[in-house]
Amino acid sequence: CAACLHQAEKLKKLNIFVRLTREVAEIQARQADVRYQNGNIRGILDGIPVAVKDNYCTLNIETTCSSRILETFRPQYNATVVQKLQDAGAVLLGKCNMDEFAMGSGTVDSIHGPSKNIWQSGEKYTLIRNAKKSEESTEHVQGYNSIHDIKMGCRKLHQLSSHNSEGDWFIAGGSSGGSAVAVASGTVFAALGSDTGGSTRNPAAYCGVVGLKPSYGLLSRHGLIPLVNSMDVPGILTRTVDDAATLLNVLAGHDPLDSTTVEGVFIPLDLSQDIDLTQVRIGIPKEYHCAGMSGEVVQMWSEVADTLEQAGAQVIQVSMPYTPSSIACYSVLNQCEVASNMARYDGIEFGLRAAEDRSTEQLYAATRSQGFNEVVRGRILAGNYFLLQRNYSQYFVQALKVRRLIAQDFDKVWSSGIDVLLTPTTLTDAPRYSQFILRDNREQCASQDYCTQPANMAGCPAITIPIKLSEQGLPLSLQLMAQNYREGMLLAVAKWIE
Ligand code: GLN
Repeated sequence: CAACLHQAEKLKKLNIFVRLTREVAEIQARQADVRYQNGNIRGILDGIPVAVKDNYCTLNIETTCSSRILETFRPQYNATVVQKLQDAGAVLLGKCNMDEFAMGSGTVDSIHGPSKNIWQSGEKYTLIRNAKKSEESTEHVQGYNSIHDIKMGCRKLHQLSSHNSEGDWFIAGGSSGGSAVAVASGTVFAALGSDTGGSTRNPAAYCGVVGLKPSYGLLSRHGLIPLVNSMDVPGILTRTVDDAATLLNVLAGHDPLDSTTVEGVFIPLDLSQDIDLTQVRIGIPKEYHCAGMSGEVVQMWSEVADTLEQAGAQVIQVSMPYTPSSIACYSVLNQCEVASNMARYDGIEFGLRAAEDRSTEQLYAATRSQGFNEVVRGRILAGNYFLLQRNYSQYFVQALKVRRLIAQDFDKVWSSGIDVLLTPTTLTDAPRYSQFILRDNREQCASQDYCTQPANMAGCPAITIPIKLSEQGLPLSLQLMAQNYREGMLLAVAKWIE
């Protein structure tokens, strides 16, 4: 814990944390040490430093969603998944930076400033995942690689790379960018993100770590401040697939405080046996090959598909024709749910209250225009427009129908016998900050979610795994998706690829 706190301090320039919970961490770590000495281990995560995105409610610890409107908000309870981490013995190191209310794909729209990727061009890193297999690890990858390693007594914190934070840098991805950099830099072993359209998988891919979006309904959303209730899921970021399985086993399960969680579908995962690939059918959906996808991403995709085929898997091209409608459909549904979800921030109950006493209406308006950034205000406005009585059926109802068609694409693929789908996670490696924030480039940035959004429409599980480095020395990743609640299959194939 002390080494991880030290690492966090050393990496301040990357802006990983909105708040380091140093005192909480030190107390929890001491308690874990005592339990360890008494042979009284609390759970699989006992003493393991973790971090959570700042949209999870944490008891008496500020939870800002990176927004001015919640700058002073201190929840009275822990989110269920945060509580479960602590019940398993995890040590909470801090709250991670994010795009305001999880709206974004860069972690650049935060009142706390942008997070920066730990990977910078030109530096010769070996991918973290390869370090396990390679004798000669670079300075970046020395030390322990997984929760398993630390359990085995390996206590050396991996070294920090020298990081040039002056001038331009590569973005961390978003909206869970702080969580991804926290894991990629070895500051924590696991972090929680959230995933509505790709917010766990996108930064995991840009930062070269594993990012798991579980099936909708498998993990509780109680205490996760909502963005789009019908698509949000807690996300898991780790350095290895095994660690993701460990976290999933701790976190999955029905919660009486979240009526959308399901009962009786989850069997704890055991990845100790290698999967027999000859029994696995892998679909390659041709519509995921889209405009703007870089040549090296396409090449990596086909190389991994070939490797799987050579190892005995059946690799089959499939068609999911509604995929290209996903971005437009998502944006209507997202903005409608945002308009409704953001209505609670009125300056009366919690958070910011503007100094305005002419009328209640004026107080609401002043609070909301001071408290929300431009992106949030824009989505509220658009959502209310789509929900107007005269527009409702043309936009909202229409988008719900398209969502159904996207979900049916998945149903058809699964019923044809496909076990997992293999696609890229993002269209390119991490963009430069200066490119990403160009106004007229925003639409192009939204297209980085092209491959990740459909899984949220269907509610199915998806995982991103780092594969190799791009020509400019940044991580490139692929995504696997499986039928709802088939996390066992998903992670077993992911582990094979890893
Ligand atoms: N980039 C998408 C958005 O801005 C996805 C966000 C998310 O998954 N939370 O809405």
